[in-house]
Amino acid sequence: MSATITEENYLKAIYQLSQSESGKIPNFSIAHNLDINPATVTEMLRKLADKKWIDYSRTGGATLTEEGQKLALLVIRKHRLWETFLVKTMEFTWDEVHEVAEQLEHIQSEKLLNQLDRFLGFPEFDPHGDPIPNEKGELPATHAILLSDCKPGDNRKFVGVTNHSQSFLQYLDKIGFRIKDSIEIEEIHEFDQSMNVRINGENRTVFSPAVCQGLLVV
Ligand SMILES: [Zn+2]
Repeated sequence: MSATITEENYLKAIYQLSQSESGKIPNFSIAHNLDINPATVTEMLRKLADKKWIDYSRTGGATLTEEGQKLALLVIRKHRLWETFLVKTMEFTWDEVHEVAEQLEHIQSEKLLNQLDRFLGFPEFDPHGDPIPNEKGELPATHAILLSDCKPGDNRKFVGVTNHSQSFLQYLDKIGFRIKDSIEIEEIHEFDQSMNVRINGENRTVFSPAVCQGLLVV
């Protein structure tokens, strides 16, 4: 059974929220994530529970069933493969692709999706460094941590962002910091946890705490 566009967006939202919140996801979190009225959410969650894609109680919130998780991962797979396609072959920049992928992620053709995956060479990560589920819905292993959790003297590699906002991505472009660049932490200021860093053994710059919390490194 395939889901409607709205249903897919709900399942994706619940999946994404469950990555950062533990236990059941409350209605207001889902409403906030999808930018809609909490009353509307209740109705849709009941529908999704009827279809056995989520376990839901009005007071407790929602969790994905195995089937629901599969559908959510499929939408995420599509989203991230399309983002990769747009950057790799259509000359989109990494701050432009999200909005377009929000639409492309709802195309239902399984053949198109799997051919796209093959065409791209079965990529494991999208342009923002987010893991792409494979055909079986499995995610590649990553050991990435936040830059803000690193220590002075650490030598790391930039592998992804947790802040996907356009302005943040544009900021990284502006300072010329790209995925796979190396980053050495020279000093962390006790005052506000801002960091003196050195990029690719050359450029020295200072990262604010907000920047450090938006970057994933290994
Ligand atoms: Zn995206």
